[in-house]
Order: sequence, then C-alpha cells, then structure tokens
Amino acid sequence: MKGLKKYRSISDYETYTVKEIAKKLNINVRSVYKYYAKGMKPIENSKPLLFAGTTVKEFIKGRLKQRKLKEKLKFNEFFCFKCKKAVTANNITIENTGKKLGNYELCIKKGLCNVCNSKVVKLCSSKE
Ligand SMILES: [Zn+2]
Repeated sequence: MKGLKKYRSISDYETYTVKEIAKKLNINVRSVYKYYAKGMKPIENSKPLLFAGTTVKEFIKGRLKQRKLKEKLKFNEFFCFKCKKAVTANNITIENTGKKLGNYELCIKKGLCNVCNSKVVKLCSSKE
C-alpha cells in the first residue's frame, strides 16, 4: 500500500490515462478501474478514460485519509487530547459536513471522554 503515497508525483496540470496512473502509483490497472468505479471522476467524454491530475490526487488523498482513520481508532474510540490516548466516549453525536470522502460523506463525530469527560472529536465516513 506504500504505492498510493506516490500520488504526490502526479502533476496538477496534467491529465493521465488509466495506465499512466497505474504506473505512477505503482498499482495495477485493475485498481485504477476500481477507483473509477468508486467515484474517481474522469474528464467528461474522454475515451479512453482520462483523469485530471488534481482529481486523482484528491481521490487518493481521500483514500489514504479514510484508511488512516480506520487503522487508528476502532469504531467507538476517540483520541482524547487530554488523556493522550484512545478512549471510549459518552453522548456521541454525528454531524454531516457535506464533504465527500470517496463515495461517502465526511462526518464529524463528537462525544465526551469516558475518562476525563473532556470533549472528543473525530472524523468518520457516513458508511459508519
Ligand atoms: Zn480524556
């Protein structure tokens, strides 16, 4: 999965074919089609498919962010800055941000730390 970090080598000002993206990110072509299926938008009416560098970057950034969220904390865990560790929380509320995270919407989950009772917040996707 290290390959995705190579998205930085993609230029904002260029367009890329599926093959070129695969090469840039060191992933296989099928993965690129998978991203396409998951919402990475090609340039309208492009045939073969062409993707704007900015689109690819945003999409990959979103994927990486999503993955990081998943790895770091379990569903019901928050990071408490006061306790400096992952904690569970009370009074959890979820707000939609209206921003897209891949196919899902980015949400903000808020609660109160079970240990010190201070406010804890984390980002999540509407899939949860
Ligand atoms: Zn705490």
